[in-house]
Formats: sequence, C-alpha cells, structure tokens
Amino acid sequence: MQQFNSTPSFAQISDEKDVLKKFKNAFNFPSIQHQPAIYFCGNSLGLQPKKAREKIEQELDVWQNEGIEGFFKGEKPWLYYQEYAKPVLAKIMGCLPHEVTVMNTLTVNLHLLLMSFYKPTSKKFKILMEAGAFPSDQYAVETVVKHFGLSPETAIIEVTPQKGEKILHKHAIVESIEKNADQLALVLIGGLQYYTGQLFDIPSITKAAHKAGAVAAFDLAHVAGNVPVELHNWQVDFAVWCSYKYLNGGPGAVGGVYIHEKYATDIHFPRLGGWWGNNETERFKMEKGFKPKANASGWNISTTQVMNTAALLASLEIFEAAGMQEIRNKSIALTNYLTFLLQQLPHLPFEIITPAAPEERGAQLSLFFKKNGKAIYNKMLEKGIIVDYREPGVIRVAPAPLYCSYNDVYKFYEILKNNF
Ligand SMILES: *Cc1c(COP(=O)(O)O)cnc(C)c1O
Repeated sequence: MQQFNSTPSFAQISDEKDVLKKFKNAFNFPSIQHQPAIYFCGNSLGLQPKKAREKIEQELDVWQNEGIEGFFKGEKPWLYYQEYAKPVLAKIMGCLPHEVTVMNTLTVNLHLLLMSFYKPTSKKFKILMEAGAFPSDQYAVETVVKHFGLSPETAIIEVTPQKGEKILHKHAIVESIEKNADQLALVLIGGLQYYTGQLFDIPSITKAAHKAGAVAAFDLAHVAGNVPVELHNWQVDFAVWCSYKYLNGGPGAVGGVYIHEKYATDIHFPRLGGWWGNNETERFKMEKGFKPKANASGWNISTTQVMNTAALLASLEIFEAAGMQEIRNKSIALTNYLTFLLQQLPHLPFEIITPAAPEERGAQLSLFFKKNGKAIYNKMLEKGIIVDYREPGVIRVAPAPLYCSYNDVYKFYEILKNNF
C-alpha cells in the first residue's frame, strides 16, 4: 500500500490519471442540499445511467406508435428482447452468450433453477450453504427442501465461521463439502457475502462440489458487475444474480441467469416451462407440447420484460465501453486506497470486517464501529455521502468504480478524521 498517501492532492492526481473517470458523467446522482451526493451504495442499488430514460422512452414510443406490432417492429423487436442483453452479460460473467439469459427477478430465478437442478434422493439430498446467507436465499432453500417433503434441519448444512470470527476461512467450505460428500446434492454459495464483503473462491468450491458429486450453484448478486468471473471455464453448473446492484439496472430490474451449456443445450433437461422458453418460430402456433430452446433462454417462462430490460441495456452499454477488467483494476486500487486511508485513523474504534486481500473481496468494505456507528452514518448523510448502515454498527462502503472517484473516497476519510 506504499503507493498511497493521505494528501488531498494525491486523490486529485489519481482522479486525473483514472482511465475510467469519464464514466462518472454517464450517471445521475441523487442530490443532497442541492449538491450531487457521493454515492457508496452501489452494492444495494446502483445509480441510474443517464441513458436509461432515453432507452425506456424509445420503447414507450414503439408501444405508443405500434401497439402489438412492437413485438415485430422497431429497432429492437420485443420478441427477442432478452437476447439483446446477452453479448455484454456473457462478457461480464465469463460465459458463452447461449449460457446466459435475463428473466424475472433473483429469488424467483433461484427457485426455478433449484427446481431444475436439485434432485434429492434418499441418499443424496443435502444442500450446503453459508450460514448468514442473504435471508431471501435462506428462505428459498428452506421452502424448497420442505416442498420435497424434507426437513430443513436435516437437509440443510450451514457452514459457519469459527467461534468469535466473522469471516469463513478459505478452506472451511471445501472441507465441509468433503466431509458431507456422501449425502450432498447441491452447494449454493453467495459468491460475495453481502454483509462481510468476503469474496469466495468460486473455482475451488465448484471443483469440490463436483468431486462430491454435487451441483455447484452460486448467487452472484454482489459479484455481477463488481468482480469478473469465468463461470464457463470454472464449470459452474448454474448461477443467478440481480441487475440492480453493481449492474445499475434499476429497482426491480430483470434478473440474470447462467446455465452451463451442457445443460442449456439439452432440451430434455428438467425445468419449469412457459411459452417464452419455446422457439419463437413455434411460439404463436399455440400447439401442445413444450419444446424449449436449446440455450439458457429455454428457461425463460413469461413474456419478456421490455421496460425494465431497456434500463439494463443502458447500463450494459457503459460496461461494454469500460471493460470488466478495467473496472476491476480501478476497483482494487480504489478500495485499497480506502483501506490505506482508514489505516491512518488508528484512534477510531472500528474494525474492517472484509478480508484485506483484494482477491478475497470486491469493491465493498464493511466497517464495524464499536461505537458511534449510527452517528457516523448520519454525519456522512449530512455532508452529502450516502453509505449503508446495519445494526449493530456496520457501515458498508462500496466505491463502485464506474461512478466513484479517489476524491470521493478522500472526502469520506476527511469527515471521519475531522469529526470523530
Ligand atoms: C440482493 C440479494 C437478494 C435479493 O433478491 P431479490 O429477489 O432480487 O429481491 C438475494 N440474495 C442475495 C445474495 C442478494 O445479495
């Protein structure tokens, strides 16, 4: 961390040198006291791309002028609307375009994919997940095992951090998979822990799951658009994510799904179906017999969500122009800089929960303040900085590299330094 120093001019020079600096201007910022806020909540709801309104208005125009014909006319016929997101999403998620689709929302997709991939038998029926997984994922798994007539107490294995620790040791998940191999049907891990900010070793977990004869599944809500992944090469079986966090698709944005091509191209692989998963050429024949497409869109069920996918397309254009690797490079530097500045405040009673190694985290740092947590959160808001606060004193700061600058991070540090 020697390359950093805590002068304001360092922040300014770093911003001048930043190859992604122009993208800040591609977003709308909330205002606080008539000033654009500094926004560190991209891990909860990414900012609005300026082009989102234009993209939605284009589709409103098509709807206004064409009515039902909009499915077949216009620049982007709605019939294929989910297709337009695939090329860029495939790059962001490290997979082939036919392995990815957009549909529904995250927890719904988790349910649908569990229905496809979780096939409990009397011998192999357990699902392994991290204790403290995002509540919605816990509820999904709990209700799915109950749906199969199993009890959550016996069918769900939770991997917990060691006593007194908040972070799961790198090998804890793999060891637990090995220990439970005989009964394990599926492993579901949140690729990046929403509370601690810990990034898990997706390839190692996938390998271990496969060695145990289990499905390797990931919830990548906090990974998508934050950390580059290689889902195809790592042989991940399926993954789901939302598009409203680092992907900036807006509240309730259309969810993302990855299904490895060995299943995606197999039209006999079990799934819950609907007409949008059927080939377009046959969809309107209204015939009996579901014939899914031989790609991830064979899991699409309902009519494509045009308005809300339009907003996501506005954001994906920014990702395409910036490049996922450049985004990650800046993200590592920016979060390292934040770590460095925080280390200059040894008198403050806080602990960085997030692992220090960049390969074990994304943009977010979770700071546990033993006192004053809420007061710090309020002071930040008063000074125009939006962060996230969770009891009992955790402030999550996520400098999303597309619209956060070194100067933004510096201001956060300065407020801490001068007020607490
Ligand atoms: C944000 C998040 C969710 C939210 O799910 P929705 O269905 O989009 O409301 C679920 N799981 C994880 C891990 C998340 O981070």
